[in-house]
Amino acid sequence: MQTALVTGGAGFIGSHIVDALIRDGCNVVALDDLSTGSRRNLFGKDVQLIEGDICDASLVRHLFEVHKPHFVFHLAAQISVSRSVREPGFDAKVNIMGTVNILHACVENHVEKLIFTSSGGVMYGDAPARFPTPETEPRMPSSPYGISKMAGEAYCAFFQQEYGLPFTALRYANVYGPRQNPHGEAGVVAIFTEKMIKNETVTINGDGEYFRDYVYVDDVVRANLLSMHNADGAVLNIGTGVETSVNGLFAELKAITGYHSSAVYGSARPGDLRRSALDSTLAQQELGWQPAVPLKQGLIKTFEYFSSTLGM
Ligand code: NAD
Repeated sequence: MQTALVTGGAGFIGSHIVDALIRDGCNVVALDDLSTGSRRNLFGKDVQLIEGDICDASLVRHLFEVHKPHFVFHLAAQISVSRSVREPGFDAKVNIMGTVNILHACVENHVEKLIFTSSGGVMYGDAPARFPTPETEPRMPSSPYGISKMAGEAYCAFFQQEYGLPFTALRYANVYGPRQNPHGEAGVVAIFTEKMIKNETVTINGDGEYFRDYVYVDDVVRANLLSMHNADGAVLNIGTGVETSVNGLFAELKAITGYHSSAVYGSARPGDLRRSALDSTLAQQELGWQPAVPLKQGLIKTFEYFSSTLGM
């Protein structure tokens, strides 16, 4: 039986990867410090949760020695762009030093493949020459979070070149779906859906004409599992290429949830990109991956999840 380690496995995306690996018959171990994730996401599942910090090198080393994972999905991260601006040292500690700890342990324990989680939404800066944006566009992150994700990719490439550790890095677009935290700064789908179900005021930052590429979590999970045996050394965008404005998203969710009120417009968030959409042609070539869940269908599934968990 193959063992898979999912760092950040109690989080939104990580817990869906855990589900898929269990379905595939893997022995699954999750490492998570529960800073933004939750035990609830793994409740009743056949997974061993180790509560710990990826920055704790000796804990990481011990965990790898005991469990000897064949595959590692590295999702644990400081995920807040604004916190990365306020506390760049903390962001670098978790996202760079934590990643280096994981890479070291992978090499020492002859891991077959590392799948590294990067971000396409923050990688190409404010004005890439092309929309949707391919991986060949220059990397121009404008936040410490983007810089630390870029550094993580570079460390993966170094560890592959120097020590022969195979990796694939996946640059996600805006991921949405069940279990996303509706109380974070990102995750506009979760935030809007919860507020609409509770019939609370929905605030749109700025004029709402900010365009994003929303990719459903099941599609992201599929890209992760396909990466186990494909695309060594590749850095791949994982998005739909479809741009949806926040106003457009609000209208879609309003229709799905039956929300009756209008949105309230607040001040724009400094540094928010106007447009972001990813060209995933390379993922199609390297993994045979394409997004399968259209936005409306994904929003309905997300609404159904939040309705049931909120008891409505
Ligand atoms: P999440 O907050 O639900 O998941 C992150 C998980 O990592 C949490 O369970 C958290 O408790 C854990 N974690 C944080 N710091 C840790 C540490 N020091 N040690 C151990 N565990 C730690 O968020 P998510 O949206 O599921 O993000 C998962 C990954 O996907 C992250 O690497 C994030 O940067 C990346 N990503 C997410 C999106 C998106 O739209 N959600 C887009 C691009 C990239």
